[in-house]
Amino acid sequence: MSDSAFDYDLFVIGGGSGGVRAARIASLYGARVALAEEYRYGGKCVIRGCVPKKLLVYASHFPDLFEDARGFGWSVGETSFDWSSMINHKDTEIDRLDDIYKSNLEKAGVTLFKTRAEIEGPNEVRLLTEDRTVRAKTILIATGATPVIDKELPGHEHVITSNEAFHLDKLPESIVIAGAGYIAVEFAGIFNGLGVDTTVIYRRGNILRGFDEDLRCHLRDEMIKKGIKFVFDDVFTRITRMDDGKLCGRTSVGEDLVADQIMFAIGRGANTKGLGLEKVGIETRRNGSIPVSADSQTSCPSIYAVGDVTDRANLTPVAIREGHAFADSLFGNNPRTVDHSLIPTAVFSQPELGTVGMTEEQARAECPNLDIYKTDFRAMKHAFPGRDERMLMKILVNADTDKVLGVHLCGEGSGELIQAIGIAVGMGATKADFDRTIAVHPTAAEELVTMRAPTERIRAVDNPDNMLDVGLTPRG
Ligand code: FAD
Ligand code: NDP
Repeated sequence: MSDSAFDYDLFVIGGGSGGVRAARIASLYGARVALAEEYRYGGKCVIRGCVPKKLLVYASHFPDLFEDARGFGWSVGETSFDWSSMINHKDTEIDRLDDIYKSNLEKAGVTLFKTRAEIEGPNEVRLLTEDRTVRAKTILIATGATPVIDKELPGHEHVITSNEAFHLDKLPESIVIAGAGYIAVEFAGIFNGLGVDTTVIYRRGNILRGFDEDLRCHLRDEMIKKGIKFVFDDVFTRITRMDDGKLCGRTSVGEDLVADQIMFAIGRGANTKGLGLEKVGIETRRNGSIPVSADSQTSCPSIYAVGDVTDRANLTPVAIREGHAFADSLFGNNPRTVDHSLIPTAVFSQPELGTVGMTEEQARAECPNLDIYKTDFRAMKHAFPGRDERMLMKILVNADTDKVLGVHLCGEGSGELIQAIGIAVGMGATKADFDRTIAVHPTAAEELVTMRAPTERIRAVDNPDNMLDVGLTPRG
């Protein structure tokens, strides 16, 4: 079919991180591009994700800063926090960003439709508000994901998710957050920092499953020191609204957790419901996500998908990179795929967490001879005013090659630090490279280049059974 048979070379469904980048780049290559967005430009990250979350994290740091100020000779007068003022200010900023995303798309020559879009065929997209169908040579699905709520749970209608947390009329006095992933841990820090009585309930024994075990324990202990309460190995079985308006969550062991708000942060499901995938033979996984090839192509050759809807690594920079690689490959004569290994990531908990590469558990399984460098200390900024907060730094090194396999940090600035460390680890840095780098003094980060002796040496010969368990042959 000739290109003139199509209204567009590319139709993008979803104006979030991945869709916006793909549309802009494809259009700049000269493709005729249209994009449909049903809510607001910028997507989850800008509107109800990373950006407003980080603003609230900043807001919640102030009580600690006021407290520490005394140690540095300041007398801080009476302070108070106005939730409505913060939320209004945040909304003004989000409006500004929404406009910037829209105008960048327009400047790039992308035709915009403010409507829900659904797939009608391999080259057809239905624009619901306009009540018409357009034809595109290629369709890109970039519809993101939505918070999951357990619809079987009696009283689930009373709970909020991160979506509503950004728009609460008033700051609750108490909150219980279900889940212990990125969102639960970050919002626990936000609410607790703002003075809300905060409890986290989680179905297993420790937060942030999948992260390095030392990091998980360190962060959990620091969160407890800050006053966050944890209920582990338990889940809600029923939520009821009480006469005084508070919510009561009954747990599986029969405990009642009472709070002004109950927030669910138990993961996110891909936005594919009602999208018309069955019309083009695209099957989804159980969580609704779309399986794609390394170059983001679905099982229907004219349809591609990027970002959270594909459930690869659900992070903004990854969605952007996938959208960009897709546009380069199809419209820029530069075929490329995204490397999903070694993605540096931060959790904006309090204290912050930054991580790249293998966890100790993965490194032990993959690497017969492993050196672990670990330090746990009070940074000068905290020690001086008398704050009981410790920073953890951990480097995992392949003892045979000296290559750094993973770096794990918990403490102030870890998110900023891990970005730079990610470059070094991605380049294949060795421990000798870290050691050769002259320290920047006085910083907390200097510990990263001054850990001389391993705190633990793991050798295959000491533990041959272990190696056989993970399918490796002991050496020597
Ligand atoms: P989205 O950004 O979700 O965009 C999808 C868009 O498609 C939406 O605008 C939606 O309205 C639109 N849409 C859906 N269906 C249709 C349809 N049928 N028709 C038209 N439009 C449609 N990541 C980080 O890297 N760092 C962080 O600090 C971070 N913090 C987060 C905090 C929270 C609370 C949340 C929820 C997420 C956070 N994330 C963070 C994850 C990040 O937001 C996502 O990975 C990222 O937004 C995914 O981009 P996307 O393009 O796949 O989807
Ligand atoms: P996560 O997948 O990170 O965490 C979900 C949590 O809910 C886990 O603790 C999980 O437990 C628990 N859970 C899952 N199902 C149930 C259930 N049925 N009952 C009780 N608990 C359950 O999801 P989030 O919603 O926190 O965040 C979504 C994604 O968004 C993140 O994975 C991340 O990719 C991205 N994000 C990134 C941020 C950043 O970069 N700083 C910040 C916020 C979000 P278990 O581990 O046992 O399965």
